[in-house]
Amino acid sequence: MVGIVLVSHSHRLAQGAAELAREMGGPDIHLEPVGGLDLPDHPIGTDAVLVQQAIERAWSQDGVLVLMDLGSALLSAEMAIEMLPTERRERILLCEAPFVEGAVAAAVAARLDRPLGEVADEARGALAAKIAHLGGTPRAEEAIAPAPEPTAQGPSATAELAVENPLGLHARPAARFVQTASSFDADVRVTNLTTGRGPASARSLNQVATLGVLQGHRIGVRAVGPQAAEAVDALRELAEQRFGDEPEPPVTAATPPPPVGEGAIAGTAASPGVAVGPARHFRPPEIPIPSDPVVDRERAWSRFEDALGEVRTELERTRASVASRAGDQSAAIFEAHALFLQDEDLLAPVRTAVLEQGTNPARAWWDSVRAAAAGWRELDDPYLRARAADLEAVGRQVLSHLVDVTPGPPVLSGPGVLLAPDLTPSDTAGLDPASVLGIGTAYGGPTSHTAVLARSLGIPAAVGLGATVLQIEEGVTVVVDGDAGTLAPEPTPAEISQARTRGKRFRALEAQARLEAARPAVTRDGTRIEVVANVGRPDDAVAAAQAGAEGVGLLRTEFLFLGRTTMPSEEEQEQAYRAVAEALGGRPVIVRTLDVGGDKPLPYVPMAQEANPFLGVRGLRLGLARPEILLTQLRALVRTAADHPIFVMFPMVTTLQELRSAKELLRQAGDGVRASGGATPERIPVGVMVEVPAAALQAGSFADEVDFFSIGTNDLTQYALAAERGNEHVAELADGLHPAVLKLIAMTVEGAAPQERMVGVCGELAGDPVAVPILVGLGVTELSASPPAVPRVKRAVRELTLEEARALAREALSRTSAAEVRALSARP
Ligand code: PEP
Ligand code: MG
Repeated sequence: MVGIVLVSHSHRLAQGAAELAREMGGPDIHLEPVGGLDLPDHPIGTDAVLVQQAIERAWSQDGVLVLMDLGSALLSAEMAIEMLPTERRERILLCEAPFVEGAVAAAVAARLDRPLGEVADEARGALAAKIAHLGGTPRAEEAIAPAPEPTAQGPSATAELAVENPLGLHARPAARFVQTASSFDADVRVTNLTTGRGPASARSLNQVATLGVLQGHRIGVRAVGPQAAEAVDALRELAEQRFGDEPEPPVTAATPPPPVGEGAIAGTAASPGVAVGPARHFRPPEIPIPSDPVVDRERAWSRFEDALGEVRTELERTRASVASRAGDQSAAIFEAHALFLQDEDLLAPVRTAVLEQGTNPARAWWDSVRAAAAGWRELDDPYLRARAADLEAVGRQVLSHLVDVTPGPPVLSGPGVLLAPDLTPSDTAGLDPASVLGIGTAYGGPTSHTAVLARSLGIPAAVGLGATVLQIEEGVTVVVDGDAGTLAPEPTPAEISQARTRGKRFRALEAQARLEAARPAVTRDGTRIEVVANVGRPDDAVAAAQAGAEGVGLLRTEFLFLGRTTMPSEEEQEQAYRAVAEALGGRPVIVRTLDVGGDKPLPYVPMAQEANPFLGVRGLRLGLARPEILLTQLRALVRTAADHPIFVMFPMVTTLQELRSAKELLRQAGDGVRASGGATPERIPVGVMVEVPAAALQAGSFADEVDFFSIGTNDLTQYALAAERGNEHVAELADGLHPAVLKLIAMTVEGAAPQERMVGVCGELAGDPVAVPILVGLGVTELSASPPAVPRVKRAVRELTLEEARALAREALSRTSAAEVRALSARP
């Protein structure tokens, strides 16, 4: 995504323009406002060094667009570019576009991942709508190029939509229109049918705005391309929702608005912030259905029966897994799913079609499923209506056995709040974070993989909400509150507006923290704490550098291994590690070796079924059981470390013997690389993750043989408190601020001290501002958090003195519960 820098003489103007642009482009855009001087008597002006730092923070491989207000802003921006390395200069574009309108238009275009040139063009054309509205004629450079002829081919779809919201298609509604239209594989054109203006490309905010669509106008939408129908459906839905503009609630003394949260489903807070949007179930993608008739009808029918049997087995496996994690009640839904497979109302039409007419069983089955689902959808009872989605889910499962295609990753039908049972790391591999406003899951606890992912993307999330969330109808507006851990379906207008206000306040605080993120985190009495980032996807590395991370404290290398059918080669791994190291521009990168097994199985590493996967062959245990896998990874790391500051860290270490075996493999990897003529570093620092209580208790022995410790509080908490991290029923118990966990952290620090080994924390606790003072007080000197949390963590460190933090930590260790510790730390 292209980064945007706004340079103004006034700090407040830069901030204000950025606030507007974020409002339109969403909170995820890489936008850095910079303005004013740090001189109390002369606050107006521009400083080239500050501009250079802002460009660094906004840096993206896709380039950076710089918009400036007046005279010296331009000179400062030019000087700032001079200070940057040559290879970066080429990807920075100083743009003459109007400051405010340009910022808004550029933000929307950047959010759609448009290339730098197109983002700049959108910014340049941003005055056209205003000029047209006032009846003027834009000069050539302000005019918007007319929409080129559609190049897309394939099916087409059209719709005529009424525009009922007070602002018409301007500002936010127009931005939402453009974002929705652009999320489909279709060329969408829009015409103002009331005035006859258009057609305009729905991918351009400017073009849509110049149509001058006002309240009461009608617009014509025409889409061409593979997803034409889906695009038109989504736009129709958006229009029905008044393009996201809720009517203001009528305020009367007699009918006070109900308090927020009434009717909300309670779960566990997983990632901070509040989001409002249409419910989007995370569903498998459409499967192409063959229509060619079958020759051998009996055989086709028997293949269909086999598919039903296979799905029955799969459903039973899922039922057992959910039952063991979340109880029989939660798992009952899968028994209901299995009943569909023996429902004669569904099967009889398929039998007739296949055996008597020779219809392809996939076609016949899907027709039958669709007809039955349509019947369910017509019922009055919302619970029964929701069964249609269950039926289609099972229907798809059968289809995927009948049709010889590997289904791709699940998808969302449009931007909104993602609802799912739970998200596995491989589910999320193909997820488009830009279209996920919030996340609500039925299962999972605060350190589940879903929560870790949501935090790393900065998406508000609540987990462990129970199976009720799976029954919410697609498209219904929901509010997800990532601080309270709740999800409210069909909120009232008053609740929506309260949620939006809270969301805005949260984003404003985050933006403020980001302004200071490039500076080091030093306590008020001068102790420096390293604040680094957890990186779980390649994009996180860029986000980490932009968020002010001083390095990577935990590179979760699983991203390379999950969601595929074969092992990544040594070369492929080396490339990925180099890419992360390069994104961090010379800052240290702690790479954790593969941490799979147990609850994260690899399809290409067959393993025995385990009754207690979290206590089984996972982490380093798997690496030592399959040394060829670990050796390949270590060789790729050694090669990368020849040119970059790479640190190697082993996960789930329990005994000293495991560490020694792992170090021996690292030595062999180095020998292997040298033998093949490759360059190797003089030495690679080695660390262990402290995730098993035994490692914390034995830290003193480990200290003689490692360079550093990093405490994985997610696992350490689950093992210390015997509370499974993905299980929402024990989520309250699994709190890393429990004094028992804090004592294990204190023991690790104590064990590391005689050898002066660095102790960091890379579990989710490190990103929790309430936990930061206690961790610092316990003697932790490095905190590794998700990229969006880095500025927050730095700010929390700067508010402390070491003495206060130590006193707080002593108090915390003497408490008896996590709740007491939280109350202690949150006290003003
Ligand atoms: C941890 O256990 O705290 C940790 C950081 O590792 P992961 O969450 O990847 O298991
Ligand atoms: Mg772990």
